[in-house]
Amino acid sequence: MPTASTNSAREILTGLHDLMASRLAAQGKLNKVVQIVAEAMESEVCSIYLLRDGVLELFATLGLKQSAVHVTKLALGEGLVGTIAKQVAVLNLAEAASHPEFAYRPETGEELFHSFAGVPIVRRERAIGVLCVQHGDPRAYDDLEIEALQTVAMVLSELIANAGLADKASAAATVRDDSPLRLSGLRLVTGLARGNAVYHQPRVLIEHTVAEDTEAERHRVYSAFAKMREQIDHMTSLAEFGTAGEHQEVLETYKMFAYDEGWSRRINEAIDSGLTAEAAIERVRQRMQMRMRDIHDPLLQERMHDLDDLSNRLLRIVSGQLGTAAQMGLRGDAILVARNLGPAELLEYDRRKLKGVILEEGSLTAHVTIVARAMGLPMLGRVRNVRRMIGEGDYLLLDGGDGAVFVRPTGPVEEAFKAKLAITQKRRAQYAALRDVPPVTKDGSRITVMVNAGLRDDVAALDLVGADGIGLFRTEFQFLVSATLPRRESQQRLYRSVIEAAGDKPVIFRTVDIGGDKALPYLDHGEAGEEENPAMGWRALRLALDRDGLMKSQARALLEASAGRELNVMFPMVSEPWEFEEARDIVEQQRAWLASRKKLLPTNIRYGAMLEVPALAETLDILLPKIDFLSIGTNDLTQFLFAADRAHPKLAERYDWLSPAILRFLRRVVRMCGEAGVPVGICGEMGGRTLEAMALIGIGLERFSITPVAVGAIKAMIRSLDRASLMPAVEAMLDNPPPSMREALSAWADEHKVALG
Ligand code: PEP
Ligand code: MG
Repeated sequence: MPTASTNSAREILTGLHDLMASRLAAQGKLNKVVQIVAEAMESEVCSIYLLRDGVLELFATLGLKQSAVHVTKLALGEGLVGTIAKQVAVLNLAEAASHPEFAYRPETGEELFHSFAGVPIVRRERAIGVLCVQHGDPRAYDDLEIEALQTVAMVLSELIANAGLADKASAAATVRDDSPLRLSGLRLVTGLARGNAVYHQPRVLIEHTVAEDTEAERHRVYSAFAKMREQIDHMTSLAEFGTAGEHQEVLETYKMFAYDEGWSRRINEAIDSGLTAEAAIERVRQRMQMRMRDIHDPLLQERMHDLDDLSNRLLRIVSGQLGTAAQMGLRGDAILVARNLGPAELLEYDRRKLKGVILEEGSLTAHVTIVARAMGLPMLGRVRNVRRMIGEGDYLLLDGGDGAVFVRPTGPVEEAFKAKLAITQKRRAQYAALRDVPPVTKDGSRITVMVNAGLRDDVAALDLVGADGIGLFRTEFQFLVSATLPRRESQQRLYRSVIEAAGDKPVIFRTVDIGGDKALPYLDHGEAGEEENPAMGWRALRLALDRDGLMKSQARALLEASAGRELNVMFPMVSEPWEFEEARDIVEQQRAWLASRKKLLPTNIRYGAMLEVPALAETLDILLPKIDFLSIGTNDLTQFLFAADRAHPKLAERYDWLSPAILRFLRRVVRMCGEAGVPVGICGEMGGRTLEAMALIGIGLERFSITPVAVGAIKAMIRSLDRASLMPAVEAMLDNPPPSMREALSAWADEHKVALG
């Protein structure tokens, strides 16, 4: 029985190479392709169907009746050919007629044949056609034969695209499975967004499949492997890289694959058969995907996913298409799709065009989520297999509040979405009307509502939402978005412009919180060694006190920027009172130095500490007399209280901010501050959620610094609240906690008509 060995794949490719270079018209080339394939595979039939106007049309055949060419048409999903195109999957059948989808077309004369093998012709991960062979005798095709067909399909994809024969593989045309989808995930940032899917790391479109010079292609792959291994080694060696529990695991798998001799050997074999480096990488990727398709072990599927990622990385290196979608520029309204992102990567995007983000990983308090929230970008996390389910260019409707994304939505879904959008806009308008209305409870308590910011542009939000000031300015964001350590002068310029933009409203600057998931590639973390738990590692004040040059220059920049005004400065991750004192001393030394030079100084300096490390609560009696204010960072605090990594996607929903443990802890801190007469506020993400903020008011908090987008909803909640009746209710709940604090608090809010939005 004839089989298509690697040799015959090579034979086919040599034939195709000459054909591609020939002057023959596209139809002529297709006619020739079916001949070459049928000859090499000794098949009675070889046919090519192409997708035109959404239907698969027989374009060329050897073995079927010629009168059927351009006459036989199949819808997507119809018959064997339609099934292959719809599922973007291979069919390999010894007896074609016994397949449930078999559709008999008398005009083709195909009743004479028994066996059937067909592969999709793919462009941008979508089927634009089908290539199939048929034999008179019932036989199963072996792997090498199927692979030879897939190789031909890749070449055909290039030919068809160049000749513009089939529908363009874009969102407007067809999709691998054109049915609409609803994917769900974890609500990270609420809000609605519409746009086309853009991969953060775009897939490489393979332009040339047949090699001119096999030796040169081999060399290209060799260098690409070397470069990729270097990158992976670098990533794994960066101690500060571990942003999430899973990350390390992923990197280990990357490393394993990157050094897998089998993988590079298979790519080289594909090059030997006459493919270009790009086509060979893609060929091997498809082959592995095909083999893994029927394996349902989730762990193996994950690993396949990693290999897919890595193949894409290798393709990007070999083709020189290295930029992220941000660097290449967004063309229209876009919804970004990525496995995960760092905050700096997100900040690179054009804010006018980026409308939303969908991540395969992600968690509520990871910094990328905080940045997205600050940018007002709806964001969905933990969407499984997102990059397999959503193709580049797919039209998407993202509903961050519902935790859902609609892929290729139908008319009614889009209508419902529009209606929801209208309601949200109306609500937003209602919130906007609260801009100049103070957040006062029904019984007359004025609550302070400030905003969190980190970039110069964020300051505009202050006026837009009508907040009381900036309660947390994350100075490290400037460090994250620059390529090198920002100089003192540029820090000073930023701080001054922020202070000026805030006018008479206060700004609380937090000194840099670098480390954890905010690693700076240009800062040598080498001294810290390999960090197993970067969030609990050498970060924030710990790093700043050890690298006091950094702290000194920031202190100078802050003092100079606040000359003639009050400076509010606070330190992150204070774990023991002496750390606060040391940090304050650095600022004081700088103040003395400036004074000795007769420089204009701030009129007053207010020093604050962030309470993010639980241990500090035990020494508050020592700390409180030394500070002017305390700010509770619940993002870090809760991760440490529950020993649950704030960026770990698997833990993202495990513990509730409204748990008695957290609320009791906070109640104690608030009480101690009250007794010491030290103002205390909250600046973690928790404060920006209406029910959580209500609970916090219930334990006595009066100062909030929250994400700007939440100000309207929080103000509305405050204005609908009777604090005097809330406080004893929360007190009672905490003394004797119900099974679910969240449910009990929601019920109370319902009963008392609190506007939770
Ligand atoms: C916090 O930890 O709650 C906080 C406000 O700081 P960051 O999120 O920047 O760590
Ligand atoms: Mg923090």
